[in-house]
Amino acid sequence: MIVRQLTCRGLINSHLHLHLKRQWGNQDMARPSSDLAALREIFSKANDIAIITGAGVSAESGVPTFRGAGGYWRKWEAQKLATPEAFSRNSSRVWEFYHYRREVMLTKNPNAAHLAIAECEERLSKQGRNVTVITQNIDELHRRAGSKNILELHGSLFKTRCMSCGHEAANYKSPICAALEGKGAPDPDTDDAQIPVQQLPRCEQKGCHGLLRPAVVWFGESLDSDIVNRTEKVLDSCDLCLVVGTSSIVYPAAMFAPQVAARGVPVAEFNMENTPATMRFKFHFPGPCGTTLPAALARHETEQE
Ligand SMILES: [Zn+2]
Repeated sequence: MIVRQLTCRGLINSHLHLHLKRQWGNQDMARPSSDLAALREIFSKANDIAIITGAGVSAESGVPTFRGAGGYWRKWEAQKLATPEAFSRNSSRVWEFYHYRREVMLTKNPNAAHLAIAECEERLSKQGRNVTVITQNIDELHRRAGSKNILELHGSLFKTRCMSCGHEAANYKSPICAALEGKGAPDPDTDDAQIPVQQLPRCEQKGCHGLLRPAVVWFGESLDSDIVNRTEKVLDSCDLCLVVGTSSIVYPAAMFAPQVAARGVPVAEFNMENTPATMRFKFHFPGPCGTTLPAALARHETEQE
C-alpha cells in the first residue's frame, strides 16, 4: 500500500538513495546529457511515452501549489489542512481552503508545457503511439489543455466524494455551495467562516445528503490502488519517460522513474533543479518546462503527416 505521508518525501528519498547506491555501485555516472537532438532521435522511435508531471508545471501557470516556504493558507501550513483529521475537526475551514483553490483555478490557464503534452498525445495517437500523463497535480490543467490519458495520483480539486455513501462526482460549480460564496480568503487575518456542517457541500445522490469532501488524496491516506496499478502498467511498458516540473528523486517521480531507468529505458528530466541524483538519468533539460518541453515534443521530421 502506498500512503501519502507528511514525511513521504524524506522517507522515499533516503530509501531511494540506498537503492540507487546498490544499483549503480561503482559504475560510471556520466553527467546527464542536454543534447536535444539525441533525445529527439529516441522520441521519434518511442511508441509508449510516460510523462510524470509535478508541481513545477502548475507553478508556471501561476497556480499556488502550497509547497515549501510559501505553503501557508491563512496562518496554517497547507499540509496540516490536507489531512482527514483536519477535515473531521473543522470541515468548514478545510472546505474554505479547497473552495479558495477551486476559485483560483478559474483565473489560471494551461501553459505551453501542458499544451505541448496534449498536442503530442493527440498527434501521436493518430500514429498508433501512446502518451500517458502521470501527475500529482490536482488542478486539472492537463485535462483543460486537451490531454486524455491522465492518471491523477492525488485526485482532483474538481471531484467530490461523499463521506456517507462514497459516491464520487465531478463538480465544477462556482461557488460549490451558497454558504462558501465569497469565503476562503487566504490572508492570515481572515476569520474562519464557521459554516454549519449542514450548509457545506452535500451529496446529491437520492436519499443520501451526506457531507462531501474534496476527492483528493490527503496526507496519511492511501493512493487509489486502481490508479497505482494503471501507473505501474504504463511504467512497465513505456519506452521513454519524461519527468516534468519535478525531479526524479522527489516524490512522486522518485517512486517511478528509478524503476524505468533500471529497465534501461531513457528518462529525461525537465525542471529548474539540478540535484546530484539527476546524474543517474540520461537527459536533463534545465529551465522552465514551458520553454524546454515544446521543442522536445514537437513533430519530428520522420513523423508521417
Ligand atoms: Zn452520498
